[in-house]
Amino acid sequence: MSEDIVLLNSDGLRVDGRALDELRPIKIEAGVLGNADGSAYVEWGANKVLAAVYGPKEAQPKYLQDTAKAIVQVNYNMAAFSGDERVRPGPNRRATEISKITAEALENVILTNQFPRASIDVYIEVLEADAGTRCAGLTAASVAIADAGIPMIGMVAACAAGKIDGHIALDLGKKEDNFGQADMPLGYVPGTGEIVLLQMDGHMTMVEFRKAMDMAISACEQIHELQIGALRRRYAVNYADMDDGGTEQ
Ligand code: UDP
Repeated sequence: MSEDIVLLNSDGLRVDGRALDELRPIKIEAGVLGNADGSAYVEWGANKVLAAVYGPKEAQPKYLQDTAKAIVQVNYNMAAFSGDERVRPGPNRRATEISKITAEALENVILTNQFPRASIDVYIEVLEADAGTRCAGLTAASVAIADAGIPMIGMVAACAAGKIDGHIALDLGKKEDNFGQADMPLGYVPGTGEIVLLQMDGHMTMVEFRKAMDMAISACEQIHELQIGALRRRYAVNYADMDDGGTEQ
């Protein structure tokens, strides 16, 4: 993180013209894959992320099974062509970390005790990356799990807030992530008010931290509305496709 690069202009606007509390444009679509039990696609600024869900199904190998609840397994992967430079295929330290924290966030909301010995498998494929992919991935995964009909307390919406040129800013882009002073991804469940993911890279004062948290939570509330909208659109399409034209019984 460097102090030399100017990330805020004299009007207080950021390198991509956003205000400090402004999200990048976000589009969410549910049910985009035919073969997965549930799926979702998220475009978030220049990020493009696909999430697919299988399960609940019997956990294999058997030693993974928990007799009291389902296990949640997440595989986060960046496609080779997703970054400025070719990403080396296969697991690495960062992908393992993001998979783990995403699974832990989702375990907080999925009603896993309804599915003993089962596994719920979530695949997150980052097709294009521009900072914030773990938040986009977690947001997409929640919609995919809902699309799969897996019961949850509520969907997790995720968004980062950080610090650039000494100011707290929402949803850092790649340049801001690289040259800003802090980045704090946050996963939030608007239905319960719970925070299920919180990470921090860099430094903030306590006052800055509270401001960043408030900003990220209020963004998560907006993102949650987009998640619900995606599921509503998905449901409306299927309803209209029914043989009886979707007329109520
Ligand atoms: N990145 C990349 N190649 C990598 C890892 C990261 O191009 O192997 C880029 C990518 O744009 C990613 C950004 O760096 O979104 C920030 O990565 P970070 O680890 O902070 O995670 P993210 O912000 O994506 O959750």
